[in-house]
Amino acid sequence: MQALVLTAPNDFRVKEVPDPKPGPFEVLCRVERVGICGTDVHMIHGDYPMWPAFYPFTPGHEWSGQIVELGAGAEEFGWAVGDRVVGSSHAPCSFCANCIRGRYNLCLSYNNPKLHSHYGHTKQGSYAEYVVHSIRSVFKIPGGLSYDEAAVADPASIALHCANRGQVSDGHTVGVIGAGPVGILAAEAARTLGASRVVFAARGARLGVVESLGFEVVDTNVDDPAGAFRDVVGRGADVVLDAAGTPQSIPMALGMLAAGGRCATVGIPTSDVTASLSQLVLNELELVGSRAVTGEMAAVLDFIADGRVRAGKMITHRFPLADFGTALDVADRRTDGALKVLIDMSLS
Ligand SMILES: [Zn+2]
Ligand SMILES: [Zn+2]
Repeated sequence: MQALVLTAPNDFRVKEVPDPKPGPFEVLCRVERVGICGTDVHMIHGDYPMWPAFYPFTPGHEWSGQIVELGAGAEEFGWAVGDRVVGSSHAPCSFCANCIRGRYNLCLSYNNPKLHSHYGHTKQGSYAEYVVHSIRSVFKIPGGLSYDEAAVADPASIALHCANRGQVSDGHTVGVIGAGPVGILAAEAARTLGASRVVFAARGARLGVVESLGFEVVDTNVDDPAGAFRDVVGRGADVVLDAAGTPQSIPMALGMLAAGGRCATVGIPTSDVTASLSQLVLNELELVGSRAVTGEMAAVLDFIADGRVRAGKMITHRFPLADFGTALDVADRRTDGALKVLIDMSLS
């Protein structure tokens, strides 16, 4: 099959590799669409010490496709050749103390490749004609949902997990930092969970994008962005969802919170963060991390199918696998207002 193969940071090409084979409780899927994730961009640039786990490596984890072969045992769990599915990146061990408690995103077997797969990070991913996934980490696409929209389900599930970590509920005022796909999808998730008001703290070209999607925006291109946010929102946000995860965004998020508020951050900071924490104590603020998902995929597929999460609005560009280099550049530089750039395997 044809696959994207990364042999060192920034050194990749599309080439012929052997077809993968499904093992027990795995399925082989033909890939239809793959979204380029911000994590892929960082991984390919060599920004993360832990990912990819080895070279040569095929990244990619936001995919939709169809089952073409079942490994032993998959049929017992109701899987069939022809099922349309999306992938979720973590396939946990299911036996450790954290898995048993349902927090399988924190599986204690993460670093043991015999027990745990993190597709596109520690196991071969989906920038390829075919991908093997555990049946723990594929989900059926609801009828009527396109492969395009389904390919956005993975970042949408991560955004919903962030909103859940922030404990967004009825009547909350929610601030969102980061107007890329995960931030926008987190804002959609917050509305779905009952937030009465969702206000973006954003700047630059993407400010207009979130405004056109019907969200309130505060321009943070000022000396005191948290103050600008509070001028608009009043007492501050009950919950801030931080999809940026930068040394600037986390202190800003804390400054945007109302007393008793909670910030959930999903962007992975690639450098240290300095923040004054006196208000964390005096206002009983909470700062929580949000990693991957703990079972949000099924719900988010329903939210996408009924239009509450507008996944299709994220898709701005598509390229064949052969043009991966161009696609990566468009995603990285946000060329022409790029949000979600898809690799469309039906193009050649
Ligand atoms: Zn992703
Ligand atoms: Zn585990």
